Amino acid sequence: MTFASLQHHVEDFMQIPPEAVIKQDILRCGLRFSEAAMTIAAGYKPKDYFIFSFDLIEIKDMQQREHLRVPEEICISDGPFELANTIISVRINPDSPYVVDVIEGRITLHCDGNWVGDVTYHPIPSFYHEPLSSGKAMGEVAPVLEWGYLIYLTVYRMCQYFNKEEQCQFCDINRNFIQQRKAGKPYTGIKTVPEIIEALAHIDRMDQRAQAYTLTGGSIITDLQGVDEVDFYVQFIEAIEERFPRRWISKAVVQAFEPKDCQRLKDAGLQIYHPNYEVWGEKLFNAICPGKARVIGFETWINRVAESASVFGASHVIPNFVGGVELNSVCGYKDVDQAVAHTTEGLDWFMSKGIMPRFTTWCPEPLAALGHQAAPPLAYFCKLLIAWRERFLHYGLKTPPGYGAPGVGNAVFSVSAFMDVLPALSMTES
Ligand code: SF4
Repeated sequence: MTFASLQHHVEDFMQIPPEAVIKQDILRCGLRFSEAAMTIAAGYKPKDYFIFSFDLIEIKDMQQREHLRVPEEICISDGPFELANTIISVRINPDSPYVVDVIEGRITLHCDGNWVGDVTYHPIPSFYHEPLSSGKAMGEVAPVLEWGYLIYLTVYRMCQYFNKEEQCQFCDINRNFIQQRKAGKPYTGIKTVPEIIEALAHIDRMDQRAQAYTLTGGSIITDLQGVDEVDFYVQFIEAIEERFPRRWISKAVVQAFEPKDCQRLKDAGLQIYHPNYEVWGEKLFNAICPGKARVIGFETWINRVAESASVFGASHVIPNFVGGVELNSVCGYKDVDQAVAHTTEGLDWFMSKGIMPRFTTWCPEPLAALGHQAAPPLAYFCKLLIAWRERFLHYGLKTPPGYGAPGVGNAVFSVSAFMDVLPALSMTES
């Protein structure tokens, strides 16, 4: 990507704000940081590796030990496009055209040598300094993302689909776990209820910024510590909601379950259900998610997602897909428009039922089975955002709960621009 090409995309896709175009490009290409920019980042919230690596290179290849030095997110503003505040997750790529540097005392973002905007980092939350009885850091047990809006509780850092090499082909969760351990990071495989409660007690006492928590981890196919996946998560939800009733919006990323199992999660106190379908269409689902395809199957998966609306309410069922993975070079589309049309079929299927799929931007991680490869073109993401918003408005859906305020300058969701392209709420709606 050159700066001229970025400018052309901003002009060609005037239906969406420049902030969304640039955010998608940075997520697509990753970021690099100058020494000075990383030195300053030492005083701000670091990248906590909350679940996957979300980097374009392995830690062992990071010449400047970037994995310990970059911030979790950057916020860009101003620049030639007069950007409103735009929050973007950091994905390390030493070959990215985007570099965060320090020029005349200001942290700035450049593409291909051209100034894109000014940069701010997220301060370290005060509760990050609180001690835990295990000796672990708060950022390991209960990190925050989305500029402090979301507490991210990865309570199981492995996925059992890896046991038979049936993992989702874009996913590096187990291999990231291994590389983090090798790199010396204390990385907890299975977190306990007491350590989560202890960490949340600090947040409860000291923080007003976080509004939601996400409970998640890899899939549990048989059992973990003697319980199935639903019961494993239920114990956390029950404990959190008993100790801090409705203190935060509760969300869980888990598999697609039958309504009776969804009801167990709901009864425990879960408000928002994320049964991620990852990619639309049986053929791609089978190729990209072989474990989910074998154990549950595409048709059953999406039908369970639809049925779960009877438990949570359609607006509280928010399945994720991995935007762009349908263009992977191993088994994906070659043509951007065909890929967008295909994925839009899925958007229509869910949104016509009042369910709102959202997406994260595919990061071709080297430790994932698909391996490191070229990211999908920026035009794909622009067209996807346009199609996504068009379907959203067509079905008159409401801003999803648990994502903060929508619209340019407000959105905090940092791994795709879907919240940035939504209209801002009026004072009466917010
Ligand atoms: S279910 Fe798929 S995406 Fe989720 S952790 Fe397992 S392999 Fe990764």
